[in-house]
Amino acid sequence: MRVLILGSGQLARMMYLAGCPLGIEVSAVDVKNHQVVNPVTKAPTGQTLAQAAEEASAISAEFEHIPEDLLQQMEMTGKFYPGSQAILAGADRVREKQLLEKLGIANCEHRIVDDAEQLDEAVAALGDKLILKASRDGYDGYGQWRLTDRTDLSKLKKQLGSLDLTKVPLVVEKMLNFDREVSLVGVRGKDGQLAFYPIAENLHHDGQLHVSVAPAPNLTAELTEQAQHVFTKLAEELNYVGVLAVEFFQIGDKLLVNEIAPRVHNSGHWTMQGAENCQFENHVRAVCGLPIGDTRSFGASAMVNIIGYASFEQNMLSIPGVHLHWYGKDVRPKRKMGHFNVRGEDYVQLGQRMLALSEHLPETHFPHLASEARALI
Ligand code: ATP
Ligand code: MG
Ligand code: MG
Repeated sequence: MRVLILGSGQLARMMYLAGCPLGIEVSAVDVKNHQVVNPVTKAPTGQTLAQAAEEASAISAEFEHIPEDLLQQMEMTGKFYPGSQAILAGADRVREKQLLEKLGIANCEHRIVDDAEQLDEAVAALGDKLILKASRDGYDGYGQWRLTDRTDLSKLKKQLGSLDLTKVPLVVEKMLNFDREVSLVGVRGKDGQLAFYPIAENLHHDGQLHVSVAPAPNLTAELTEQAQHVFTKLAEELNYVGVLAVEFFQIGDKLLVNEIAPRVHNSGHWTMQGAENCQFENHVRAVCGLPIGDTRSFGASAMVNIIGYASFEQNMLSIPGVHLHWYGKDVRPKRKMGHFNVRGEDYVQLGQRMLALSEHLPETHFPHLASEARALI
């Protein structure tokens, strides 16, 4: 079987690696130039996009910001999963909010703004601690602005002056004082079968995910049930096939959806060592119509993103339970270069191993690793 993935970054690469033992060949589309490439070597396969799409058993995507003409072209093949409706719900924050509202799913209080003057109304309604998000093309905190004080409003309006808000409106959200961020990664098969990984606790810094710990410590059964209920509603509404991630803010015993990602997700990378079948294998299985693999986890896991950093002491790999996943990209500030998965029998051992790892890594690039580790011990 062959699977074609739109996008040729690390997520396509990890799907390729997961497909290998199953004898499933994954190729990727470099969306900028419509070239079909090997997801690891990035070498062109020599196929045209039309040929690769024709030969594929299934077509999927590693990111949601896909040009609409390409999306339509793939939808026409009848084998594009999770489908353009789901991709667009993740790509366009206005659609995403509409979907959440339609399904009665709790989310962050917000206003849609397509004219800078409406910002005053948003401030009147939501207060002056706001986070403004471009409705399209945002990720890793890009395309976001923060307002922390009413007096900065005119400065912010000037900053936004160059944007055409009628084409790309802003979603203006109340800045929440949440207890923590968690995410649920799950998978739905072609037959509608659902499976969930344990929920992960996610630590962000400057709008970017730094560390995930799974299963999220001290998560009540009620919160897990809330998250799975939300996931099920969304997946069924979208007739979803494949891996889906839902990001939440936890406030007390309530979960609010932050956003959804219609694809394998950074907060699910821990499953590569921490679960019976990883998210990448399960996505490939689902889009190929194969049975979904067991999502059970072993012990406790953490995923530590390597962001804008590329010099390592090799001996850190001698720490038990530490696994390096390197994406083979050129280093740039804020760029996700790879990740570590760390596993322990329990949270204490996980914390000790993370602490040992932190001794080999600079605090400038891994600002929360040691404190997260200590919190587990
Ligand atoms: P991703 O890479 O996850 O797709 P993104 O650019 O789509 O990121 P969001 O997930 O919307 O951005 O926001 C990034 C981070 O910013 C969140 O994980 C959270 O830490 C913070 N954040 C976003 N919205 C709010 C909010 N309303 N209140 C407080 N913090 C927020
Ligand atoms: Mg996002
Ligand atoms: Mg996010």
